Formats: sequence, C-alpha cells, structure tokens
Amino acid sequence: MKIGIIGLGLIGGSLGLDLKAQGQEILGVSRKESTCQTAVEKGVADRASTDLSILSEAEIIIICTPIGKIVPTLEQLVPHLNSETIVSDVGSVKQPIVTACSQLWSNFIGGHPMAGTAEQGINAAQTNLFKGAAYVITPPEENISGIEKLKNIAESLGAKPYICSPEVHDSAVAWISHLPVMTSTSLISACLGETEPQVLELAQHLASSGFRDTSRVGGGNPELGTMMAQYNRKALLRSLQVYRQNLDKIINLIEQKNWDNLEQILNINQEARPKFLN
Ligand code: NAP
Repeated sequence: MKIGIIGLGLIGGSLGLDLKAQGQEILGVSRKESTCQTAVEKGVADRASTDLSILSEAEIIIICTPIGKIVPTLEQLVPHLNSETIVSDVGSVKQPIVTACSQLWSNFIGGHPMAGTAEQGINAAQTNLFKGAAYVITPPEENISGIEKLKNIAESLGAKPYICSPEVHDSAVAWISHLPVMTSTSLISACLGETEPQVLELAQHLASSGFRDTSRVGGGNPELGTMMAQYNRKALLRSLQVYRQNLDKIINLIEQKNWDNLEQILNINQEARPKFLN
C-alpha cells in the first residue's frame, strides 16, 4: 500500500520507519528540504518532498504536523487527492480537528497514537514507538471502510486500537495526558522557585528516577503542550480545577497533621493506579 505521511518529526518519522520496514511504500512530505533528505537516508520514507503533489498516488495519508497546522495542511492537500483517499491525523486533540477536517474531506478519520518521547524532529524518530500503546481512532460515524484500514495500520504497529467519539477522546486525554503535562511542568517551576542556591544545586544533583518520571512530560515539547491547552482548553481546565481541589485537600491534611486521612488517600491511590497502567 502507498502511505503518505506529512510532517516528518518524532511521530511521523516513527510511523514511517515501522511502516516502511513492513514493506509499505512511504511517501513523505515535510516543511524543510533537509528533513526530507534525512527521512530518505534514515529509512523513514521511500521518497520525500516539500511538495504535497507527491501524495497524489497515496491510498491513505496521515497528517503528523503540529496540531495547529493539521487543518491548514488538509486545505492545501485537498486539490491533490482522489475521491477514494483516506486522510487521517495524529493530533493529540480530536474534536476541533475532526470537525474542521471532516468538512474539508469526507474520508477524514481522526487518529491519535498515544506514544511519545520528550524529543522532537526527524532525528527523534524511532522504531517500535507505538508497540503496546493505544491508538485512538475518532471517525465521523459513516466512514466504515476507512476505519478498518486505519485499525489494520494501528495493529500492524503493535498498537491497540480504540474507537470513540472525538469528544470522549478529548475528555479522557485531558485526565491522563494533558493534565499530567501541566502538573509536571508546575513541578519543575516549583523546584526552580527554591531561593537558596545551594539547596537548588544539591536538589539538581540528587534528582533521580522519581524526578525523571514525574518531570518527563512537563519538560517535553513546549509547542505541543501549549497546543494541548489551546485546543482542549475546556476539558483541561476542568481537570486542572479538580486537581487543584485535591492538592488543597492534601495541603489541609498536612497542615492539620491528619496523617490517618493522608495515608487513606495514599492507600486508595496505590490501589487505583494499576487500573490506569494496563
Ligand atoms: P515534531 O517532532 O515537532 O514533528 C512535527 C514535524 O512536522 C516537524 O519536525 C516539522 O518538520 C514538520 N512540520 C511542521 N510544520 C509543517 C508543515 N506546515 N508542513 C509539513 N511539515 C511540517 O512533533 P511530534 O511530536 O511528532 O508531533 C506531531 C503531531 O503528533 C502533533 O499533532 C502532536 O499532537 C501529535 N502527537 C505527539 C505526541 C508526542 O508525544 N510528541 C504523541 C502523540 C501525538 P520540518 O520542519 O523538520 O520539516
């Protein structure tokens, strides 16, 4: 199958590496000429160009640009498509994208492979990034044949497909993806608020796996974090407000030296955590 990928960065590049290794023909498009050259050298794409017309033969095209560029990219892509072409994206927010894109192209199906690293760009692309990860598919209802093709692609990457509405996706990822980015970045800010230089320097030396885990998503791609907030603002604000209430509750318990209730909360959460990590 000829598969087009637009935006050859971490996600687009990693998709290209795995799909090309399976024997699919990958046609890549990116903004910079140098990225297109690297993509071919790295085995991300068979051919790559800055010109969208290279994609006219593709059966399925996956837009992997930053969130804010997905709709404008589809607008420019439409004249190069034939009526059968399926177009998808990988944007971390779905409702505004699926609404706008399905008006531009009836064969548009939203997608979100839920894997990533703190890196960005073509040189961050890696094989097997999506293995074991969820791949959420958010179609407009009627587009059944396209869903199967996208599901097959997700499964071929070793990912687990989930099908749901864009709205349900956005509410769910606000909890487990967008809220953690904001709390994790606040954690880094809070540590930087230490006014005693000697303490801050020692803390930086002592930081180990716990800090690495809890700061990873907040110390990642700033453009991506900003766009999550911009495009999923309502659901994210709701999650942040509930988070703040929980933080206030913990502050109160510690102020009141209420260790029993604090331990009770920690016990409940220790038991609940594995349900989020299956
Ligand atoms: P990234 O590493 O920065 O890659 C995006 C690439 O798109 C850039 O390297 C850039 O390549 C290219 N690009 C930018 N504007 C373009 C345009 N107008 N036309 C064509 N190419 C363009 O970012 P990413 O992390 O892969 O994120 C891409 C998408 O994946 C986003 O929509 C994001 O929401 C989604 N996503 C990200 C993650 C994650 O954890 N990172 C996870 C799941 C989904 P050049 O400028 O080098 O050509």
